Amino acid sequence: MPKCRAIALALFGVAVAARLSAQAPKAPDLATATVVDLTHAFDEKTIYWPTSPSAFELKSLAYGPTPGGWFYASNTFCTPEHGGTHLDAPIHFAKDGLTADRLPVRKLIAPAAVLDVRAKTSADPDYRLSLDDVHAWEKRYGPIAAGTIVLLETGWSTRWPDKKSYLGDDTPGDASKLHFPSYGKEAAEYLVRDRKVGALGVDTASIDYGASKDFIVHQIANGAGVPGFENVAGLDALPATGAWVVALPMKIAGGSGGPLRIVALLP
Ligand SMILES: [Zn+2]
Repeated sequence: MPKCRAIALALFGVAVAARLSAQAPKAPDLATATVVDLTHAFDEKTIYWPTSPSAFELKSLAYGPTPGGWFYASNTFCTPEHGGTHLDAPIHFAKDGLTADRLPVRKLIAPAAVLDVRAKTSADPDYRLSLDDVHAWEKRYGPIAAGTIVLLETGWSTRWPDKKSYLGDDTPGDASKLHFPSYGKEAAEYLVRDRKVGALGVDTASIDYGASKDFIVHQIANGAGVPGFENVAGLDALPATGAWVVALPMKIAGGSGGPLRIVALLP
C-alpha cells in the first residue's frame, strides 16, 4: 500500500473513531457513577393538568403491629396517568403509537443532552425552545446523536409544587390560561425528524408550552414514536453532556403514559 494512502486511511480511522465517540458517549461505570434523581415524589401536592378529574391518592390499608407480633404497613394508591413526573407514551397523541408497556426499555436508557434555556425563560414564561437554541447548543457541544434523551431545562421545577406559579394559573377545570415554557415546533421537528432523538423531556408540565392550543410538539414527537417525559426535576445537577438517563415508567398494559422514575448517571 502506498504510504500516503495508508496515512489517509489511518486519518480516516481516527476521524471515524472521533465521530463514533461523539455519537455514543461512554457509559458511566455503574459501580462508581453518581446517581441523580430527576423525579418529583408523588403526594397530595402532585400537580395534574387542571382538567384532570382526580389527583394522586394514597390510602393506608395497614400500619402497625399485627396479632402475630410483627410490624406491617401497606397502602393503596390511585393516580391519573398524566401528572407528576410521568411518561407520555407515543399513543398519547398518535392512534397507532406504542403504549407504555410496549415501549422498548432500551430506548429509555440513553445518553442525555441537557438544553438550558433558563436565561430566556426567566424573562418570558411563554418561551419556546427555538431552532437557533438547538443550533447554538450543537455548535458548542456537537451534534445531538440519534437516540439521545433530550432534557429541556427551564428552571420551572423550582416552582414545584406551587400550582399557580408552576402552571401560570390554578383555576380548577380550566386549562385555557396556562403559562409555562417548553419546546417550540421547529426545534421539536429538528430534534425528532433530523436528529432522531429518543425522547423529549422537560421540567414543566408539558412538552408543549402552557399557552399551546394545538399541542403540536406532542403531535410531532408522539407521531414519530418519540415519548415525552414531563415534570422532570433536578436538571440543574446535570452537565450539558456526559450524563446517561434511565427513565423507567410504570408498566401499565395499554397505558398512554404513567408515573415515571427517572434518574441520571454521572461518570
Ligand atoms: Zn403527559
